[in-house]
Amino acid sequence: MKKVIYRDIRDIDVAEVVDSDPAEGEVTVRIKYCGICGSDLHEYLHGPFPMSTFGHEACGTITAIGSQVTGYAIGDRVCTVFPGAFAEAIVCPVERLIKIPPEMSWQRAAVLEPLSGAAYAIKRGGIETTHTVFIAGAGTVGLMFLMGLKAMGVETIYMTDVQENRRKMAEKLGATLVWNPTDLKSPAKIKALTQGRGVDIAIEAVGIQETLKDCLASVRYQGTVIVQGIFTERAQMHMLGFVTRETTMIGTSSIDPALALAWLNTGLIHPESIVTDIIPLADIASSGFEVLAEKNKPAIKILVEP
Ligand SMILES: [Zn+2]
Repeated sequence: MKKVIYRDIRDIDVAEVVDSDPAEGEVTVRIKYCGICGSDLHEYLHGPFPMSTFGHEACGTITAIGSQVTGYAIGDRVCTVFPGAFAEAIVCPVERLIKIPPEMSWQRAAVLEPLSGAAYAIKRGGIETTHTVFIAGAGTVGLMFLMGLKAMGVETIYMTDVQENRRKMAEKLGATLVWNPTDLKSPAKIKALTQGRGVDIAIEAVGIQETLKDCLASVRYQGTVIVQGIFTERAQMHMLGFVTRETTMIGTSSIDPALALAWLNTGLIHPESIVTDIIPLADIASSGFEVLAEKNKPAIKILVEP
């Protein structure tokens, strides 16, 4: 089968590799789609993480089952939350499978993992429907937060992004107000919108100093900042406001698929609408990673179809 081999920074290859059989507690899944995650782009541009998660947002059909596997059958449709899925097939441990309902489209299944990341963070951050929320960044991470909050019934959600196409997407998906943070100072704008109080929750969904600063300066006294952006550079923060406003800051990177599935079942949200491109495996570098590495990229979520 064909599989993407990570050779070095900005150097990946699609190679023919031998199929391996699933061992005890594993299944083989033929991949339908594997989404390119922000963390994949980070590994592509800057080098692999110590525990690489390269290619982990996949869905497909079970084609073989190892010993000691119960509850799964050949032909089952699943998501695999396991690295190595930029490939025609993957051998995946059962505990990294999520069963998907028969009526769910493949594109919807392909964005279940990023939605699950937002689900985990929203639960961990203790967000309630009455909270006012600011999301810095309208890429996949920010938009998944937006849709999770909409599914929950949160009414006031402010968002920022430097790119116009992403701001438009955030508006289309129901953000209360969206602006370009280079035109308007977000903390001042939020103060004006909240009678000087600040938002209850701010979500950092980019991974740069500027957006983290905007989040810290936009939350109310005893508010919460949730950080899910992937940071490449160090961030320098002025910590006085953090201390005097008694801010809680939480980093999150786990997932809660059960909550994400419950949100999808409400029928209120359509996270698959952020998929802008579906590309063949052979073009993953040129039409996938290199496109996402551009500054003013039109793409939001790219799915690879092996
Ligand atoms: Zn991901």
